[in-house]
Amino acid sequence: MKFLRVLLLLGGVLLQAHAVDREAFTFTSYTLDVRIEPKQQRLAVRGKITLRNDSALPQKNLSLQISSSLDWRSIQLEGRPAQFVSQPYTSDIDHTGALSEAIITLPKEIPPKGVVELEVGYEGVIPLDATRLTRIGVPEEQAPHSDWDQIGKSFSAVRGVGYVVWYPIATESANLSEGNSVAETVARWKAREPYAQLEINLSHSGEGAPKTLLCNGKAGGATSFEQLGLAYLSKTECAFEGLGETVPLFVVGPFEGLDQPPVNISYQPDHKPAAETYALAVRLAIPFVTEWFGPLKTSPQARAEVVELADPEAAPYESGSMLLTPLNSDSALARLTAVHQLTHAAFFSSRTWIYEGLAHFAQAVYREQESGRQPALDFMGAHRIALAEAEKALDRERSQNAGTSESLISTSIEDLYRSKAAYVWWMLRDMVGDDALKKALAAYRSDADTTPSYVQHLIEGQAKTDLGWFFDDWVYRDRGLPDFRVAAVYPWEPSRNAYVVTVTVENLGNAAAEVPLTLKMEEGQVTKRLLVHGKSNAIIRIEAASKPREIVVNDGSVPESDMSNNVYTIEAPAKRN
Ligand SMILES: [Zn+2]
Repeated sequence: MKFLRVLLLLGGVLLQAHAVDREAFTFTSYTLDVRIEPKQQRLAVRGKITLRNDSALPQKNLSLQISSSLDWRSIQLEGRPAQFVSQPYTSDIDHTGALSEAIITLPKEIPPKGVVELEVGYEGVIPLDATRLTRIGVPEEQAPHSDWDQIGKSFSAVRGVGYVVWYPIATESANLSEGNSVAETVARWKAREPYAQLEINLSHSGEGAPKTLLCNGKAGGATSFEQLGLAYLSKTECAFEGLGETVPLFVVGPFEGLDQPPVNISYQPDHKPAAETYALAVRLAIPFVTEWFGPLKTSPQARAEVVELADPEAAPYESGSMLLTPLNSDSALARLTAVHQLTHAAFFSSRTWIYEGLAHFAQAVYREQESGRQPALDFMGAHRIALAEAEKALDRERSQNAGTSESLISTSIEDLYRSKAAYVWWMLRDMVGDDALKKALAAYRSDADTTPSYVQHLIEGQAKTDLGWFFDDWVYRDRGLPDFRVAAVYPWEPSRNAYVVTVTVENLGNAAAEVPLTLKMEEGQVTKRLLVHGKSNAIIRIEAASKPREIVVNDGSVPESDMSNNVYTIEAPAKRN
C-alpha cells in the first residue's frame, strides 16, 4: 500500500490507471434530494448512496462520476469529510463527453461484499450540450435533436445514464467513435444495477403559472405545492424499486393532460389536436394489440405515459412505461407509435430482444392489417437497411477480433435487438402461422423465462415443429445474414401446357432461413417456401399451369445482405421428346 500512497501524491492520472477498479462497486441504493432551478438551468443534489464491493478483491479506492457540467461539493463517510480528488474523466456516456469524477480514498479497505455508505452533495448546470456528437462529425444543426437533454427556462427534459449523468455512477470510459462502446458500457452498468433502489425527491421552483414535473418512477408519488407570492415550489416523490432496464429521467414543462386509457398524454399548450390524434390512434390500436399480446395493464401503477417533447424534431425516447416524443397530426405515424407503446403495456419480457422485437414486429403486422403485406414488407425494409449495416460492421470487427459474439440474447446493439429481432418474429410468424404464435405468446411468462431456449420451446409446443436450427442461427448465435441467389432453373414441359420448374437456390451467407420463392407465369404466379441452410443449396420443383417466366426468391420477409441477385428470368422451356 505504500506504493499506492506514493502514486496518490503523483496525482490523478496515474491514480486512475493503477488504483481504481471503476466497476468494482454496485450502487445498491440512492436517496437523493434533487433541486431543479429552471431559471438558472441549475441542479443541486444532496443525499445518500450505498455501494457494495462486488469484485473479488478488497478495494481501497472508489470512483463516483457525474456529468462534467456538475461539480462535487462534498462527500462524507460516517459523518466525516472523505478524502477525494476530483478530476475530469473523458467519457461519452454523458452528453458533454466528459464526467466529473471523484476518486475517494477510503480510510480502510472494503472487503468483497462489504458495504459503504456515502453522503454526497453536487451541483451545477445542465445546458443543452451535444459535444460528444459534434466531435465525431454529427452536424451542429442535427446533434441537438438527438442530445436534447437540458434544464431549460421553459422546458426541461433530462435522461439518466447514457445521456446525462445526473445521479452518481461509476463506469470505465466509453467512446462513441469506438463501435458500440457507449451502448456496451451502459448495458454493463444496467446489468450491475437491476436491483438498485432509488428514492428521489425532486423539487422545482418558478414564477407564474406552475409547471408540471413528471418522472418515470413508480406511479403515485406524492406531490406537494407551495405558493410564495409570485413564486412557487413544487415537490414530487419519484421512486424506483429495482431499476431493471429503466433509465431514471425527469421532465418539467407547462403540460396539459389528456387521459386515453391505458395511456396518459401530457402535451404542450396549444397542441391539443396532436394529443387527440394520438388518443385516437391508441383507441384504434387497442383491439389489435389485445388480440396479439393479451390484455392491457390498466391499473394506475402500470399506466403508460406519453410526454410531448418541446422540440418537434427531437428523436423519441422510451424508458420504463414512459415515451418522450414530439406529437404532430400525422395520424399514420401516431398509429405506429401507439401500437409500439401498447404492445409494451400488454407484454413484458426482461429480455430486450423479445420486449423490443415484439413491439417493432407488432407495428409491421398492424401495417399489414391496415394496408396489406407489401406495405408491411416495405416498412420492414427500413429495419433491413439498419440491420444489414450493423451486421457489416460486426463482420469487420469479427475479422479483427475472433472472439466477438453478438447473439440476440446478449446484444446491446440497438439495430440487433430492435431490427433483427423484429425480423426474427416476422419469420417465426411466417413459419408457424398467426394462431400458433399468438398461443405461444399468451403462454409466455417473463418470470419463467430463465433459459434462452424457453421461448423456442413455447413456440415449438404450439407449432409442433422443430425450430432449433432457426434459433441457433438467428437468436443464440450471430451468423450474420443469409444471401440468396437463384443458382439454376430448369423448366420442363412434360405435356402440353403443363410445366415443371426445378429451381436451385444458393445461400451464400451463414444463416439458414425458410424463404418464399415465387414462380411468375404467363398467367398468374405461385409461391412456395424453401429452407436453405447457410453456405448450401436447396432444390424445389414447382408445377406450373402456364408458361414460366421468372423466379423471385425472397419477397423481403427474410433480411438479406444482398437483395440484388434474387430474380431469375426463365428462357424458353425444354420440350418433351
Ligand atoms: Zn419499445
